[in-house]
Amino acid sequence: MAAVNKEMLDELRGELTYKRKNVYTNATEEDLVKINDYAKLYCEYLDAAKTEREAVKKSIEIASAAGFKPYDFGDKIEVGGKYYYNNRGRALYLFAIGSENIENGIRISAAHIDSPRLDLKQNPLYDEGNMGFLKTHYYGGIKKYQWTAIPLALHGVIITGDGKSVDVCIGEDDSDPVFYINDLLPHLGADQMSKTASQIIPGEKLNILVGSIPLGDDSSDIKLGILKLLSEKYGIKEEDFLSAEISAVPAFKARDIGFDRSIIGAYGHDDRVCAYPALSAIIETEKPVHTLMTILADKEETGSGGNTGMKSDIFTDLIAEISAALGANERKVRANSKCLSADVNAIFDPNFADVYETKNSAFLNCGVVMSKYTGARGKSGTSDASAEMVAFIRDLFAKEGVIWQSAELGKVDQGGGGTVAVYIANHNIEVIDLGVGVISMHAPYEAISKADLYMAYKAFLAFNK
Ligand code: MN
Ligand code: MN
Repeated sequence: MAAVNKEMLDELRGELTYKRKNVYTNATEEDLVKINDYAKLYCEYLDAAKTEREAVKKSIEIASAAGFKPYDFGDKIEVGGKYYYNNRGRALYLFAIGSENIENGIRISAAHIDSPRLDLKQNPLYDEGNMGFLKTHYYGGIKKYQWTAIPLALHGVIITGDGKSVDVCIGEDDSDPVFYINDLLPHLGADQMSKTASQIIPGEKLNILVGSIPLGDDSSDIKLGILKLLSEKYGIKEEDFLSAEISAVPAFKARDIGFDRSIIGAYGHDDRVCAYPALSAIIETEKPVHTLMTILADKEETGSGGNTGMKSDIFTDLIAEISAALGANERKVRANSKCLSADVNAIFDPNFADVYETKNSAFLNCGVVMSKYTGARGKSGTSDASAEMVAFIRDLFAKEGVIWQSAELGKVDQGGGGTVAVYIANHNIEVIDLGVGVISMHAPYEAISKADLYMAYKAFLAFNK
């Protein structure tokens, strides 16, 4: 065996390139300004877009200002044109036709704009014990106990019996009332506290407190009192709840966390923290070479089903229409397309270190997170990106100065999760997961790093280039 000298060791050590880099080490003053300016824009988007319907509206507003035009099936499509397809007000497909042949493939960034929350049941209103309540059915994976004793806002739409559409948004303005879910005082919590966390607050106790003043001389008629107010304010009857989509979301606004203001606390980072950079990136790519598509999908949190979820045919219908309009072979377009499945990941948390495997975890401020695969119990439910796709992204990010890290969700046997990646890959498209790491994912108030957000934005821009 040859003797090992210092030069050889240094050379080998130099080859150990997969070292996580902290965005803040070597960041210039100019970088810090860019990181903070972008974070401000993102916070404005967060506060304006707490539900998928609001996210679609806000995104169309931003895209329209940048020259994107509404598209419907059969409309003309031109090279250089920028369009959006609004799918039922709950999902949005933006696309920009590039100068090269579309048969070279589309660069797709796919995020989702629905977040865990509490939806009102179809027959929600009742009173009991001098309190008026709305019954809920939770949407997505939540820790139910986290939703009690915090201020909630109601967002949504009511379609009345005569077809009138009434938008609802109560609890966001500082002069608005908020709503609330009762919890038990610790003094009487002996039985409750002996239960497991998933049973402390059962789903049927997630009832929203909405009032207490009775109508007339019967002190139990609180429900009538509330119906009177709803009739006066919104012109709705109790029956109109049947054709309503109203969600309770945390009434918190996005705010900086920490002395150094490096972290953003907000409701719904999952997945607006990827949706917003993916939206910015398609808007800011002025003269695209590749054809670009940014998808803001609905229903990811409930499995991507339905006509606004990522499993909907609308996705391939649109690619087929665009391809046909440009005289291209749709199958070839899909076969050559590449997609970033833009969804969040879990940040290593020293307070819960035992569920992470640190060699393959995402760390705060270490950039955008790439996951070759997701899934649970033996990668079930993943599309598992090809080594070629990973190599393509590595090369791209190296050239464009994107700071990134490779990670999976947590320890192999600890659980897992899925994204829209597999539903897109099923259409013969190369897909890889890329997104921002989140602290306290799916909690009413989640946290992310401004530096990681900024690197996600740079990553989507690089991909579109
Ligand atoms: Mn997500
Ligand atoms: Mn989620």
